[in-house]
Amino acid sequence: MSKAPGLRAFTYDTALRGVHRAPLIAEGLVVFTPQHNGLEPQPLQKYKDGSCGHDSRGHDLYAAAGRVFERHITVNGETHYTPLPVLELECRKGNTTRFYQRIEIPCANTKHSLRIRVDETKEDREKDPSTRRARFNRTEHLRQIAPDTPAGRRLKGFRQDSESQHSRFDQAYPHKRVPVYGADAALLIYIGYAWVNNSTARALRQSSP
Ligand SMILES: [Zn+2]
Repeated sequence: MSKAPGLRAFTYDTALRGVHRAPLIAEGLVVFTPQHNGLEPQPLQKYKDGSCGHDSRGHDLYAAAGRVFERHITVNGETHYTPLPVLELECRKGNTTRFYQRIEIPCANTKHSLRIRVDETKEDREKDPSTRRARFNRTEHLRQIAPDTPAGRRLKGFRQDSESQHSRFDQAYPHKRVPVYGADAALLIYIGYAWVNNSTARALRQSSP
């Protein structure tokens, strides 16, 4: 960030996890990476207020797939998660920057509006006495911009292209083997491959207005 003043957002691939995203978010960046697979939904909080109605059990909020869901129990006793609409990503500057998602919870008679922190809080980092681990890995489970939303899909396109180039390089040779002996000769092939790709990109760039 010191080398690129005015930086606002950062896009990377799945290798970047919550622990890596947290300090970047605290610096005021919007960080986007695809969400890691296989994460269990995490209980977030319960919400209830006077407008819910007397017989309402309130709303069970969970973090799943990088965003806030409401958990419902169906008539068959099965668990069902519904994603909640995100109205806005709010940013509050201070010593460290805080980010909030303003979400909407549909209720029988009304819609509730709620702010959920999506940067790592001091309480998140405190050790839970029972597990001796940090209470909540918030930036792993909740995302500023959730993947699989129109904004998330747009940001995904900004990832650096090198990973797909590596994959294409592997596929370019039979059995994924570079047909040379020795590291020097292999390096020549790598450089040649990068050269061809860069030249193609340059030619495409020049031919478009
Ligand atoms: Zn309600």
